[in-house]
Amino acid sequence: ALTLDRLTKRFGATTVVDDLSLAVPAGSFLVLLGPSGCGKSTTLRMLAGLEDVTAGRIRVGDRVVVDPAVGVDVPAERRGLGMVFQSYALWPHMTVRQNVGWPLAVAGWSRDARRDRVAEVLADLEIAALADRSPAQLSGGQQQRVAIARTIAPRPDVVLFDEPLSNLDARLRTETRALLGRVHRETGATTVYVTHDQVEALALATHIAVLRDGRLEQLGPPEELLERPATAFVAGFLGSPP
Ligand code: ATP
Ligand code: MG
Repeated sequence: ALTLDRLTKRFGATTVVDDLSLAVPAGSFLVLLGPSGCGKSTTLRMLAGLEDVTAGRIRVGDRVVVDPAVGVDVPAERRGLGMVFQSYALWPHMTVRQNVGWPLAVAGWSRDARRDRVAEVLADLEIAALADRSPAQLSGGQQQRVAIARTIAPRPDVVLFDEPLSNLDARLRTETRALLGRVHRETGATTVYVTHDQVEALALATHIAVLRDGRLEQLGPPEELLERPATAFVAGFLGSPP
């Protein structure tokens, strides 16, 4: 399970994540959905360990990874999670194969295990033919597949995505959305996926958390939010496709 318990983030006097509590079972595909500025990326960055938590607690499974009240702050690389950045952030001087293999090397995988796992992940993401290219020789969509491959290669318990489709054209967006659904089914990793696009949310989510001004409006399966929206805001946000 992934549990946020009264999670709060303030920048100076401004509260951008406000007493946010939610929990989803392991293996869920949780979409954080809401308008620009509602605190989605900040929440994801706190999960990833890229942003300090002002107050509250984050648990991955049974393990508390952040709780400033008792001084717990597990370093990012030991939280068992991986993040796919909107900018992909591939290492430009490494080939595709090296990009995907590097996190495994850092985690201490043997050379043989690394080679097998890289081959497997490249095949899963249909980029085996690109293994020896450098990132500069790839299209945006291909770079993104490499970024996803690199993130899932070490088999993280939790995978984080921040608007991963926003830089892609419409056709590639649909294709990559389907790929992300397949990757989720195959890895079984708990996924947290940030978007402001209700179509993406409804297509991918097992659970949707609708945020507004840093607060949780409603958490539930997509059908529940569509059929029984808790607030007018939720109804309006899900009911009006872009
Ligand atoms: P978008 O859909 O536009 O990406 P978001 O939901 O991801 O929006 P956040 O990036 O989490 O929103 O930002 C939430 C609020 O926190 C915004 O009002 C933003 O201006 C503010 N904010 C984010 N980072 C900082 C910072 N480092 N210092 C001060 N305010 C910040
Ligand atoms: Mg954002």
